[in-house]
Amino acid sequence: MSEQYDAIITGSGSNGLAAAIHLQQKGLKTAIFEQASSPGGSTRTEEVTLPGFKHDIGSAILPMGVASPFFRNLPLEKHGLEWIYPDIPYSHPFADGTALACFEDIDRTAAQLYKDEKAYKQLFKPIVEKWSQIENNLLGPLSWPEHPIELLKFGFKALPSAKMLVNHYFKEEKSKVFFYGSAAHSTLPLQAIASASFGLVLSTMAHKYGWPFPKGGAGKFVEALLSYYKSLGGELFLNRKVEDVNELPEAKAYLFDLTPKQLLKLKGTDFPSLYRKRMGNYKYGAGVFKVDWALSEPIPFTNEKCRKSGTVHLGFSKAEMEESENSIHNNRVSDAPYVLLAQHSIFDDTRAPDNKHTAWAYCHVQNGSTADFTQQIEDQIEKAAPGFKDCILAKTTMNTQQLEVFNPNIIGGDINGGKQDITQLFTRPITQISPYSTPNPKVYICSSSTPPGGGVHGMCGYSAAKKVLKDHFEDLK
Ligand SMILES: Cc1cc2nc3c(=O)[nH]c(=O)nc-3n(C[C@H](O)[C@H](O)[C@H](O)COP(=O)(O)OP(=O)(O)OC[C@H]3O[C@@H](n4cnc5c(N)ncnc54)[C@H](O)[C@@H]3O)c2cc1C
Repeated sequence: MSEQYDAIITGSGSNGLAAAIHLQQKGLKTAIFEQASSPGGSTRTEEVTLPGFKHDIGSAILPMGVASPFFRNLPLEKHGLEWIYPDIPYSHPFADGTALACFEDIDRTAAQLYKDEKAYKQLFKPIVEKWSQIENNLLGPLSWPEHPIELLKFGFKALPSAKMLVNHYFKEEKSKVFFYGSAAHSTLPLQAIASASFGLVLSTMAHKYGWPFPKGGAGKFVEALLSYYKSLGGELFLNRKVEDVNELPEAKAYLFDLTPKQLLKLKGTDFPSLYRKRMGNYKYGAGVFKVDWALSEPIPFTNEKCRKSGTVHLGFSKAEMEESENSIHNNRVSDAPYVLLAQHSIFDDTRAPDNKHTAWAYCHVQNGSTADFTQQIEDQIEKAAPGFKDCILAKTTMNTQQLEVFNPNIIGGDINGGKQDITQLFTRPITQISPYSTPNPKVYICSSSTPPGGGVHGMCGYSAAKKVLKDHFEDLK
């Protein structure tokens, strides 16, 4: 290809798209090279069970799609995106048939927690109220705080483990399990430092923005991003696996929506050995085992709150959830894994044929595991929704290796582009002034292996694009 570009982006995941859009918005000539036959990386919707049943293979619930400081300013509705807000962002059922719901209203949520009502408000109200003052620091690379006091206050709550936080704030077992449900999205053991931060940020998103998803499937979010990108003049090339930087058309900057392991395999990067060694030490986190179901009926949850929630967290006691999230890091397997479940079709009738439904779920497993966790996941759902198994028309499962075939960035089933422990939370992939830069002044990383990590927020791509503008296109910054 003899065409010349200002910047070329490899990978059309949400971060690659965010980077490409921001550069294109600034008037640069850009193109995206994607190895798959369809765009979106881990944000894709496919009919993988029965005809007419649309399943989100990867990301499914996109609170950061509406909350991200970058995405929320894009005209995506004009490009076909329609958000659906479930009645309840998420809920957590218990074995006795009760459930706790995270409503957008903090007071209503707290009112369910008996002795912990006041503590819940003390925990969340200040964060939700001051979120706009701290979001840029939390969703970008390490930088000087815009509001140091507010960031410090958040840090006191976020830096401990989820276990320490729940023991400090809550008295009721159910309140603790409820918080664990969102903290366990971290894929870390619940006693790991900073595991609390995930629960705080995700629940803050639920209270401030809700936990919406795109009508028609997560892939519709990518369609809208691409439609906007193309309207700006951007170009996308599918089925173009990039293996050598020198094979790409001439450009001033190359941005890679890849994780370190893939970047190190790439030819033509001219990385020095010390950088290679440091990148080689990058840690990947636990994997996931994923199931998609086509259902004859909605999931028959005993509790009404669960029937009205977009997302349901399953884990029936504090000890069970701790063991589930510990076992995957300690060569053990839990028979009662923590399960994240989403049920789109209750709120979005485009997901399945008339009166039929879909469900999406995964549990955390050891990185690289090939074990089948379908039964354990279905058993967990059945405890909160007796009769669930009778509703199954068809299912598709993906172990960590199958997920990596679906998207080569999901190394060993790690859906977050690398472990999100305290050593890699803000300083990923390695500790250096700009995490997006590499020793090759033309090569940048824009994937979730850079801050702020996993999730469909595009902030890794946006920050990488800003660095490219600063380095190569100073006048356009
Ligand atoms: C099962 C699952 C459930 C999830 N659930 C949620 C959720 O509900 N909400 C949420 O916010 N997040 C969720 N996530 C995480 C979220 O999807 C990711 O954090 C996000 O997609 C990362 O975006 P990215 O652009 O960094 O990378 P990716 O989406 O991984 O995109 C990378 C792209 O690069 C391409 N690529 C790789 N190698 C090459 C190459 N050599 N040449 C060309 N192209 C290449 C890939 O094909 C891919 O398209 C989930 C992920 C998975 C897998």
